[in-house]
Amino acid sequence: MKVRGRLAPTPSGELHLGHAASFLRVEQSIREKNGTLVLRIEDVDRLRCKQEFVDSSLEALKALGISWEEGPDLGGDFGPYIQSQKTDRYKEIILELKERGLIYPCPISRRQLREHGFSMAHGEPLFPVDLRDSCVEEPEDMWSINWRFRVPDGLEVKFYDQELNKIIAYTAGEDFGDFIVWRRGNMATYELSVVVDDYDMQITEVLRGEDLLLSTARQILLYRCFDWPEPAFGHCPVLKDGEGEKLAKTRGSRSLKSIFAEGRDWREMLKDCGLGKVLD
Ligand code: GLU
Repeated sequence: MKVRGRLAPTPSGELHLGHAASFLRVEQSIREKNGTLVLRIEDVDRLRCKQEFVDSSLEALKALGISWEEGPDLGGDFGPYIQSQKTDRYKEIILELKERGLIYPCPISRRQLREHGFSMAHGEPLFPVDLRDSCVEEPEDMWSINWRFRVPDGLEVKFYDQELNKIIAYTAGEDFGDFIVWRRGNMATYELSVVVDDYDMQITEVLRGEDLLLSTARQILLYRCFDWPEPAFGHCPVLKDGEGEKLAKTRGSRSLKSIFAEGRDWREMLKDCGLGKVLD
């Protein structure tokens, strides 16, 4: 089977050096296997995503020398696939999950959740199991409320990570709880849209930052609901700065846009961060 990979930036801010490292690694891995690379703009969150960041992400990819070979034809060049144009497809999937009783409407606000108290896992709040059954009211317009996926409590989700070269295992209900697949205001969430798109685009290899390891476990549960083939997964190290924090996109000083504008040597910068391997 032909290997297919994807670059999937979220245009909610400027890309930084950490993105450069992961995208270069994705391209390297796909080229090694003579595969096909696809570009997808992950802009489901209409409140956070902006066209200016789509434009600068495309410019940054080109400046890094990364190319992709599939997408809408822009007269010689390939454009990206755009998630915000796929709302109807995501709705179709939500309807199926709803009909099968795998998701439930959840009107509970973040504030109510905080007041109720919840335990934390991996730095994220776990949705309390006892609140599941209080979430029964479905409004007339089903898209005007959040929908949560009911995780199979106690089920171990395992996958082999081809970058970390080990098996990763998480337990549903312990490492992560019921998660939102549809957000009121007409938005599929990241977890849902990424699975639907990776399936629709026949992606066979998903390489992304290590900060998405838990998301991979959630997404595998969605693949299994539909009996869709799971891609191979790999997670790249997330670039740390001096204080050891995850590099935020908001830190303009390290944005690729500013690095290119100042004419700094991004290859040297990657090497200084210990990420030179992606340049081999
Ligand atoms: N769009 C995500 C991001 O920019 C990446 C998601 C993925 O690769 O699955 O962080």
